Amino acid sequence: MQCHSINYIQVAVPAPLHGVFDYLTPETSEPNQLCVGQRILVPFGARKLIGIITAIKEGEPNSGRKTKAYLKSFESMPTFNPILMALLSWAADYYGHPIGECLMTAMPKTLKQAKLRPSYKLTHWSRTDKKFAGRNNATKQKKLLDFVESHSENVWEDELRHAGFTKSFANKLRDAGYLEPHAQSTLSLAMQVRIDSSEPILNQEQAQTCAQIAKNFGQFHASLIHGITGSGKTEVYIALVKEALKKGAQALILVPEINLTPQTFSRFQSQLGLPIATMHSGMSEKERFITRDLAETGHAQVIIGTRSAIFTPTKKLGLIIVDEEHDQSYKQFDNFKYSARDLAVKRAQLENCNIVLGSATPSAETMLNAKSGKYAWLSLHQRAGAGRHPSLGLIDMRAHSSDDALSQPLLKNIKHQLDAGNQVIIFQNRRGFSPTLMCYDCGWICPCPNCDTRLSVHQHPMHLQCHHCGHKQTLLHQCANCNSTNIQPVGSGTERLEQSLNYHFPYTSTVRLDRDQIKTQTDMECAIEIINKGEPCLIIGTQMLAKGHDFHNVTLVAIIDSDALFFSSDFRATEKGLQQLLQVAGRTGRGDKKGHVLIQTRHPDHPIFEHIRDNDYLTFIEEELEIRERCALPPYSRMLTLRSEAASAEKAERALAHAKNIIQPMVANNSCYIAGPIAAVISRKQNIYRYYLHIFADSIKRRTQLANLAPQLAKQAPFKQVRLSVDVDPMDYI
Ligand code: ADP
Ligand code: ZN
Ligand code: ZN
Repeated sequence: MQCHSINYIQVAVPAPLHGVFDYLTPETSEPNQLCVGQRILVPFGARKLIGIITAIKEGEPNSGRKTKAYLKSFESMPTFNPILMALLSWAADYYGHPIGECLMTAMPKTLKQAKLRPSYKLTHWSRTDKKFAGRNNATKQKKLLDFVESHSENVWEDELRHAGFTKSFANKLRDAGYLEPHAQSTLSLAMQVRIDSSEPILNQEQAQTCAQIAKNFGQFHASLIHGITGSGKTEVYIALVKEALKKGAQALILVPEINLTPQTFSRFQSQLGLPIATMHSGMSEKERFITRDLAETGHAQVIIGTRSAIFTPTKKLGLIIVDEEHDQSYKQFDNFKYSARDLAVKRAQLENCNIVLGSATPSAETMLNAKSGKYAWLSLHQRAGAGRHPSLGLIDMRAHSSDDALSQPLLKNIKHQLDAGNQVIIFQNRRGFSPTLMCYDCGWICPCPNCDTRLSVHQHPMHLQCHHCGHKQTLLHQCANCNSTNIQPVGSGTERLEQSLNYHFPYTSTVRLDRDQIKTQTDMECAIEIINKGEPCLIIGTQMLAKGHDFHNVTLVAIIDSDALFFSSDFRATEKGLQQLLQVAGRTGRGDKKGHVLIQTRHPDHPIFEHIRDNDYLTFIEEELEIRERCALPPYSRMLTLRSEAASAEKAERALAHAKNIIQPMVANNSCYIAGPIAAVISRKQNIYRYYLHIFADSIKRRTQLANLAPQLAKQAPFKQVRLSVDVDPMDYI
């Protein structure tokens, strides 16, 4: 007999509305089957939406008699386990973002459809008895067969792909009778452990760091590993993961978007000796879904992924590692603006497990937590293996012609290194041919029609492009202002540098790593393969090449324009600039040979170069923290940015002025400092005007209160036709 008190459920729906909604259980249903975290189809206005049950209640719903019944439930298992539900509810409050949208961000696309949860099959490959009769030049085929054979049992589909073999290639060998596929349901997947004995023995610093952390396993405990580039942090991570596995726990490793190179991945995989599940945007929806499934059921013991992997459910999580914790790519820039690093710490707390944040250049936020004792603070001071800290040279660009991105002393040094059989990295954080097309007669600069910014010149194919809205148009040959044909590209992006380097070093091959050149993981794999051959070459790139790579034959890193990194109105400019320079500098001197860094600058006396010369990030960040404390800037205050976007600048500004008027009396006790409204640096983007109101609060509590004010603000008249968004702990101050 069913109980007569009306049961109802609360559901979070994917709509920009705060709060959850009540739904009755239809008479035909069995309410016992429902659980928190489960997907459910509900009527919402005229639409039907997939939502998530946040609570199951007894009695009458508060919304009274007009409460509708939900339409349909799907599988009885929850999409979000209790820990993820707790994490996302916490995040909704902390970030002042609608819970429904937070949950949807964390939900696999497949489950956003009103269909039953799919059960995908995975393919395993094994070698048949047929002897290989291919010609000698069929080396790639032979390679694949050897690969499968060397893994005495089956090879998982994902492993093949990471080893550089496509599925269609494996299918060809199946058709020829050499390989045999076996489909297995994800849940019965048996993973085998293979041991690779080539792992290095940890040096004393590494071993101590590892022991310090491992002794706190089994409870919530956070540590920072501050290790200079090349100090062997990755080896420490691997050792820690092994400890977690010994305890029967799973490990989740977050890496920056750019860092998910096959190199990093295969280091983990071969040294841990077991298949690793990955989670990143380069994977298909099906692959991501399978990873999620394997992690949730505990079949995947180690999961490596980028930002959104923080939402991967696990069965028994024992360790979370956030590599390069300072990296900006952990922050989601639109919609639900979470920081995966900060969510990772919260998740470790909820999971009652260990978390390790690692970096050569820790963020001011993490450094403060380490200094205050909230995180254990561990340091690696020496380069591991054969590497040594590179030497630093500055080239004063005031002494060189301003047209030339490559100064004479730099060219001489590059030549010297190439002649010695070494590789050289040329770092320029700007893609395209040139950032500006300018008229030499009247000074006109070719603008983007949709944004308050200039168009960049691109070659191959020749065109103009806006790096902010994506607008493309054909190259102009005449000034739009004075009709002069004397218009020229000014400044150099990676494309132009490559061209000049080809001119100066016609017999040396070049590899370019930027977003135009490297679009997929395979592109990256190919580039790395060329570099790893070790032959002399010029590697030109943006920040894409700055992080994580372990190239052993690079002896010179040249930074073309360091000044652009430091001069901006962002209070984090120096921190970000130094992080980037030290990361790039860290790409040289990783093998047996001494590395050199050459920086072109017009400000050679800037104190920042001392820190690079001494590889002394710590002194810098301590000074930086003092400045932040004096100015009550983050991490000493809690920042919240309200953003307005509207079709007219006036509207966008007025809305925030109104918001300020409302907030000001609430914080009359000086608990907050409010700056703005101010226009964004690029105030018009895609024909939308953008304004900011920056709030620096004295406590998280007060900041959260203000962040959650947004839904009320958005309903008020000045916000009509104005989009309001909230950014808690923003990474940009522009
Ligand atoms: P990080 O992640 O701190 O930049 P890596 O873990 O990439 O440093 O290590 C840098 C290099 O030193 C790698 O080539 C790695 O194989 C090597 N290495 C690390 N630890 C050791 C060790 N204990 N013995 C020998 N080589 C090591
Ligand atoms: Zn002109
Ligand atoms: Zn534009």
